[in-house]
Amino acid sequence: MSSSIKSVLLATVFAFSPVVVAHAQEGPPPILFTNVDVFDGFGPDLIEDANVLVEGNVITQVSTDPIEVEGAFVIDATGKVMTPGLIDMHQHVMLNPPEGTAAYQTRWDGAAGGAIAIQYMNDHMLMKGITTVRDIAGDPLDVAKAIDMGLIRGPRVYSSGGAIGQTGGHSDWAGRNVPPHILENGLDMGQATGNTWVVDGVDDVTRAARLNLRRGAAFLKVMGGGGVASEFDPLEILGLAEDEVARAVEIARDNGTYVAVHAYHDESYERHLRLGTRSFEHGFLISEDMVKKMVAKYNETKDIVWSFQCFMSVKSFGSYDSMPAFFTHEQKLKGVAAGEGVRRMSKWMNEYGMFIVGGSDMFSPGLVEKIKEDITCNVDAGFSPAQALKHWTGNAGIVLKWSGPKDPYSTYHLGQIAPDSYADILIWDGNPLEDINLILDEDRLQLVMKDGRAYKNTMVESDSIMYRPAVREPKTYP
Ligand SMILES: [Zn+2]
Repeated sequence: MSSSIKSVLLATVFAFSPVVVAHAQEGPPPILFTNVDVFDGFGPDLIEDANVLVEGNVITQVSTDPIEVEGAFVIDATGKVMTPGLIDMHQHVMLNPPEGTAAYQTRWDGAAGGAIAIQYMNDHMLMKGITTVRDIAGDPLDVAKAIDMGLIRGPRVYSSGGAIGQTGGHSDWAGRNVPPHILENGLDMGQATGNTWVVDGVDDVTRAARLNLRRGAAFLKVMGGGGVASEFDPLEILGLAEDEVARAVEIARDNGTYVAVHAYHDESYERHLRLGTRSFEHGFLISEDMVKKMVAKYNETKDIVWSFQCFMSVKSFGSYDSMPAFFTHEQKLKGVAAGEGVRRMSKWMNEYGMFIVGGSDMFSPGLVEKIKEDITCNVDAGFSPAQALKHWTGNAGIVLKWSGPKDPYSTYHLGQIAPDSYADILIWDGNPLEDINLILDEDRLQLVMKDGRAYKNTMVESDSIMYRPAVREPKTYP
């Protein structure tokens, strides 16, 4: 490093926080937030006038008693509210080309898809307070690696790798006249980019599942029934067969992780509940009886979750005309059916007390900007603001840990403001428990911190909390 650059850096440190000198040799100074009202990820109430200490990339103390730390950089957050970074539990970062998923067939290659994904992950996720995404179909595994190395900016990523579905199912993106098995090397573009796997039979499932896990997938995603945004599959059909589902679950368990399923109705939910799938996406056409079964199973085992895509189902699928522009007529009709079902079943899930996470399923231009409206939509659907935030923070953090040895961020908790949690922290000017809509106002989000490092800061006159060196602890094993 040239001496002039070094002296500029030193001048920056000294000018803004002279007390850090004692720590200059050991890394960045601790950061102490004082007098902040904390939503800890679960609520239902705020912890008022708390002090929160961040050391390196981890929260080490949360207390209403004073915390004394020599050399800490102190941020007075009087009147502000701190929440954990938001976690979008149903995202498809690689499927962001303007024309939707089908665009991979004809208009974009994997490199362009990755570049578009990275731009959105910074602008519409990290900078808006979404510090973690569970990517549940799509293959951003190398993008995630580059983020973790500090080469590009974006949220943490838990990815399923390519989603596993049958020929003619929700993973089959080949054109109507191009059956996936006659394409070059047997792969259509969805498969060539690693975003999907088209499987027929237990051996195919085994191979696809293990390929995903080999490359760093944190869990598996399978298609249990028809989908709105795919071409050949009415919502009513079943996806993977019994033996195929059982094999996916077996391989996930062998690797200490779990299966998430895309499914809409009772028959596929029943099959997956019986065979050991743990994360149930969508489900907008299930009956009240199935909701009761899900809640009973959760109360008994604590090992399943319902993943709610509120904005996508309630608002985007609110009517035929509100459907995404790239949908065909048939896709729009399927969306209308899902939109009608969700209003009933989300009310039952709330009433019976299901364990819930939130995920937007919002991608592509015009939709990606609406990711956070999924949270406010939870309130429109009858949940309290604290519940809505819990779906996107505390509960989400619990489910992410179900990845066990495949967890890419295994050392600390996520989605919580508590000791031994990653320092993924947001500071809001105002109280989202009183007015959830304030989370949509960019100016009210004054600090975005991920891994102890600020990416947005309109709160304190200092750059010393920005651009701190990335801290990566060595992976630990239970
Ligand atoms: Zn989805």
